[in-house]
Amino acid sequence: MAMKLCVIAGDGIGQEVVPQAVRVLRQLLPQLQTVAADAGWETFQRSGNALPPVTLAAARDCGAVIFGAVSSPAHKVAGYRSPIVQLRRELGCHANLRPTLSLPGCGTPGIDLLIVRENTEDLYIGEEQSDGDTATAIKRITRVASQRVAASACQLAVAEGRRRLTIVHKANILPLTDGLFRDVARQVAADYPQLQVDELLVDTAALKLAQAPQAFDMLLASNLYGDILSDLAAAFGGGLGVAASLNLGEQAAIAEPVHGSAPDIAGQDIANPVASLLSLALLLRHWWQLPALDARLEQAVRATLAAGIRTPDLGGSAGTAGFCDAVLARL
Ligand code: NAD
Ligand code: MN
Repeated sequence: MAMKLCVIAGDGIGQEVVPQAVRVLRQLLPQLQTVAADAGWETFQRSGNALPPVTLAAARDCGAVIFGAVSSPAHKVAGYRSPIVQLRRELGCHANLRPTLSLPGCGTPGIDLLIVRENTEDLYIGEEQSDGDTATAIKRITRVASQRVAASACQLAVAEGRRRLTIVHKANILPLTDGLFRDVARQVAADYPQLQVDELLVDTAALKLAQAPQAFDMLLASNLYGDILSDLAAAFGGGLGVAASLNLGEQAAIAEPVHGSAPDIAGQDIANPVASLLSLALLLRHWWQLPALDARLEQAVRATLAAGIRTPDLGGSAGTAGFCDAVLARL
């Protein structure tokens, strides 16, 4: 089967980091076919749709996708919906993998943490109501989605040789919703006796993560808690310029640098491509099942950083393209 990658660069620095990271990937996968597709704010302004049907079709067809970043309007704009939220849902990417690992000269040493975040429900279903004085939002937790993400987390933990899985919740305040998530995760994990399973209330998890991120191995969380804790963890890994993620499902996987479109630095060839490179590395490992190529790419990124070649966000003077040249030279 031909290997295909749908390339959605998006807005702002997405247009810089994604093409450069894909250029590096091509050296590892010369047979890779790429299909470029549009999404985001500029696409919306041009066509009235932030995620055009042709983009969705290309993403489905390829299975593997890299999504750079998109800008969102500061205020609600009629008809605009976040294309990444829609894309994750349409492609059935039920789990969000957010690793934090210490890179040479970045962040806190000694961290190797994986957060698995449920990606389809919780408060992110967008069911809000307001009469102007009272506003409510629905938090939906289902057995099926909790089971699915817990199973993915346990399988990943075993495949990656991780030993401890910590379930994050707030079941003391939300016994029905978070209680369901916690109980289902416990039931699923019981089939993996090689895993040491424990649990933490989300506020305690935040405190402990801030105190000693090295102490964690793997966290499993529902959508909102996973979103917040993974950004906290990213701060220890060297910041947004290096934070990678993968949205993983049965039919598709979307590599997604955590950062946004960074309009403050766009168009200057100074954006850090490491987040995109490491997101592609996750795709190599978990979607294409090519762990040896993932290791080669990660090693080349590490060697480049260790040589003192880095973009301005990490205190260096390399450009986006120049950094990728240096990675290519080390592959
Ligand atoms: P941002 O991530 O774009 O930028 C935050 C800060 O980090 C900025 O100072 C930026 O220069 C810096 N930064 C981010 N990525 C970097 C990189 N690769 N290299 C060097 N520096 C980097 O977040 P923001 O400023 O809050 O949002 C900007 C726009 O991006 C908004 O329109 C927002 O809606 C959108 N956004 C999109 C996504 C996404 O597409 N998934 C995520 C977050 C924000
Ligand atoms: Mn986030």
